[in-house]
Amino acid sequence: MKNLLKRASGLILALCLVLTAAAALPGTPARAYSNPVKTVKIGLYYGSDAMAAANLQNYVGSGFSFGYYDPDRVFHQVGETAETKLTMLKDWNMYLSGGAYTDAAPSGSYDVVGCFHVRLSQSCGDFAAAKRLADQYTGGFPAFHEGKWYACVGSYTSQAAAETALVERGLNGKAMTASSGCVTVVATGTTRILFQFDYGTAASLAVRPKADSSGAKTQTWFKGYRYYGAFQYTRIGGGNMNVINVLDIEDYIKGVVPYEMSSSWPLEALKAQAVCARTYAASYVDHHASQGFDLCCGDDCQVYRGTNNAADNTNRAVEETAGQYITYNGSLCQIFYFSSDGGATEDSENVFTEALPYLRGVEDPWEQYVYTGKASWSCTYTLSEITNILQSKGYRCAQIVSVTPTYTRMGNIGSLKFTDANGKNWVFTNYSAGSILYSAAYGKYTYSMRFTITPQGELSVTVPIYYVNDGGETVAEPAQAYAVGSGGVAEPVDLGGAAVLTGSGTETLSPASVASGGGSDTYVLKGSGWGHNVGMSQYGAKAMAEQGYTYVDILKFYFTGVDIG
Ligand SMILES: [Zn+2]
Repeated sequence: MKNLLKRASGLILALCLVLTAAAALPGTPARAYSNPVKTVKIGLYYGSDAMAAANLQNYVGSGFSFGYYDPDRVFHQVGETAETKLTMLKDWNMYLSGGAYTDAAPSGSYDVVGCFHVRLSQSCGDFAAAKRLADQYTGGFPAFHEGKWYACVGSYTSQAAAETALVERGLNGKAMTASSGCVTVVATGTTRILFQFDYGTAASLAVRPKADSSGAKTQTWFKGYRYYGAFQYTRIGGGNMNVINVLDIEDYIKGVVPYEMSSSWPLEALKAQAVCARTYAASYVDHHASQGFDLCCGDDCQVYRGTNNAADNTNRAVEETAGQYITYNGSLCQIFYFSSDGGATEDSENVFTEALPYLRGVEDPWEQYVYTGKASWSCTYTLSEITNILQSKGYRCAQIVSVTPTYTRMGNIGSLKFTDANGKNWVFTNYSAGSILYSAAYGKYTYSMRFTITPQGELSVTVPIYYVNDGGETVAEPAQAYAVGSGGVAEPVDLGGAAVLTGSGTETLSPASVASGGGSDTYVLKGSGWGHNVGMSQYGAKAMAEQGYTYVDILKFYFTGVDIG
């Protein structure tokens, strides 16, 4: 399955305007349906966006539990706090100025949460015991270090400062700093440490909201969005923290559906979307495993922004399909969906690389009943523009003189062959056939795999070809030709026409032939639809729902031979 989707993802990035929906990356064999994942880990900030400081605030709930998730995704609580506003800091010298924490000293005045402490010698049985001991000291806090409980005191910006404090305060312990996996929790807006968690690479700190007295399902604010579930802070290689939302898959799907389909659309379309999103998540669950989570929250996987945009309709769509997946022969399907097909979807192998039996192209009679916004679109290209676009993408072609398309059995683009003035062919297939002529720089937007390209008018450009090296090679652009003179020095040949250097000087060449452009120097590309054309058309789902079809009808129309349940 790897090739199919890996290929898709790279191209999708290059063509982001074309894609409105998940089209993503597995890397895993087909998963049995019998035990789909129940708890998912969604990366919110990671990689270059990983955070040195990340805060949380109760929305529904009161205070937080501290703990970690084991490999079976069971949460193990180790401690708790009644504070309702927490900030997690990577264990580093962190500077607080103007309410913000940074890992480099800002200009002006600031406070510091130093990453050097005095750890008291006495080990404690649990969080409560460590906290009781720590509370006897100014600046004391409970710490979970490598599976043991301690009370730590103070926060200093150097080992020497911590050692000085050890002596001056007459403490029985040692000056230390934790491992590069450590996360320190402070009360937001202060330097007051509530807890420190350092389990090396064995486990990451997880923070889970506690229910308030109403017992209502908890929700937590994080950077302007509300989320169900818990948060995990994973420092890959000792860097900043990947911030990960850990939650029930059904709650996750409630945060996906409203971002992948309008909540104003018919319920049956939303239900089809919910089952697609759930199946996608369960089948690609370890897509970001190396970063400590399953799926990211962006276009690369599925857009997810917590509960903010969840509407009654989208929640109902998730609840009425709870636990349902799309399967083929008992295995979870690899799911693709996209905005609109413009008339027909496509066989998976013609867009990506792998033929999957449930990803067969189908003629779509439904989209015509709805406004898709992309029922037709077109681009006009001169051969020079095509040449420039190919060259701008790194293809070292000469002037393109003709374009020859092939089409799939569904009538979508199958391949594009560009012939240049040297007679060389540049052939693009699969997703590349749909994306190669996309160029924002030239204002040429190819939105889908469903288009035709035809010549328009007569050829007006003639391109001379010069034969060199006894006719064994051709040169189309004399300015790019080089010749070796009698002194053995290569010099560019640029005399307004092709030439060669000879022992006695330079001789000008005459064109030996003129390339034919196949009838036109302008091509018109006419298309419809928006997306990669593999799997479910979202507008088609909307249309089918409006015509009275159920989500099962919709899914079985776009995914060949599947079961829903
Ligand atoms: Zn992703």
